[in-house]
Amino acid sequence: MIDYKELPFLVNKNQSAWIRFFKKNKKKIENADVFIHDLHHAIVAKTDCLSCGNCCRSLGPRITNKDIERIAKSLRMKGADFISKYLVIDEDNDFIFKSMPCPFLGADNFCAIYDVRPKACSEYPHTDRKKFYQLYMLSVKNASTCPIVYEVLEGINKAV
Ligand code: SF4
Ligand code: SF4
Repeated sequence: MIDYKELPFLVNKNQSAWIRFFKKNKKKIENADVFIHDLHHAIVAKTDCLSCGNCCRSLGPRITNKDIERIAKSLRMKGADFISKYLVIDEDNDFIFKSMPCPFLGADNFCAIYDVRPKACSEYPHTDRKKFYQLYMLSVKNASTCPIVYEVLEGINKAV
């Protein structure tokens, strides 16, 4: 597994090639969801997120009203108290955590609310999404944070 600390350097080195590849092979990538999802699952299986935790330290997930309801209930808090203790509204008018690293991230990289975590957290890093080609450019950005995304993009560029 690639150390997340190496990602900014590696992405800087490769991102122009990824973008060029995407522009040249849009059609192929559009039809490659099955391959990309298999690649995603193979990379996730050999990745130890507990030795990384970089997304939970550096990205602020969008938190929906349903997330708030579910998490507050599990913490036996009122929704309004949960909001005032943990959340702020960002420039897109979405709730996000007041501060990162996430207040629910433990020193061992475990998530204290894993079973009820925000939907955005459970879907990250999105490399198994349908119509992945729509997320390709976002993934080029996410690759600086997440070793899984980096390896998926490298895999696509080598094989599609
Ligand atoms: S809620 Fe859990 S999964 Fe989401 S950022 Fe915080 S620690 Fe990570
Ligand atoms: S999803 Fe990516 S950034 Fe988050 S802990 Fe796993 S490997 Fe690290």
